[in-house]
Amino acid sequence: MKLSWVNPALSLQESQIEGTGYTTTSPVKKDEILIVQSGQCIHISEIDSQSKAPEWYTGFQIETSVYYYPHTIEEKPLLEGIFRINHSCEPNAGFSGQITLVAMRDIAVGEEITYDYAMTDIETALEAPWTPEQCLCKKESCRSLITGDDWKIPELQIRYAGYFSAHVTKAINDNLLNARL
Ligand SMILES: [Zn+2]
Repeated sequence: MKLSWVNPALSLQESQIEGTGYTTTSPVKKDEILIVQSGQCIHISEIDSQSKAPEWYTGFQIETSVYYYPHTIEEKPLLEGIFRINHSCEPNAGFSGQITLVAMRDIAVGEEITYDYAMTDIETALEAPWTPEQCLCKKESCRSLITGDDWKIPELQIRYAGYFSAHVTKAINDNLLNARL
């Protein structure tokens, strides 16, 4: 069963970064929709009840306190769409809204689709301190560690303007507003 829509230009292949990921088999234009994701919405206070799931069973943030996790089919997570996308510090994809992944630029055949986790995941007062994650992207501008505060980096805010998930855009605007008050 498929619950998310994945652009037919993408095919699931071995990732250059980690595990498997989507690679383009035909060119994609800037702002073309790559994936519209389905998932289960889990409030941050409920995440502990999911902890019996394997460590790799992880979601991404769609609101300040709500996460998107894979659907489980007979106890097995359905890892499709965005759940298969690796982080890169030089990504070619970003968000339109909270559940739609789009191309940030024209993408040639044979490129792996990546986004920057700073586009979706922000550390909030509600959660336990974020454990920084080692980045495996091997790009020139790699920042080595992925943290829950990366969305605050001014250079990233400029580079990904228009491609942050909606709740992160709101957090950036609130932060800028507070800085001016
Ligand atoms: Zn990196």
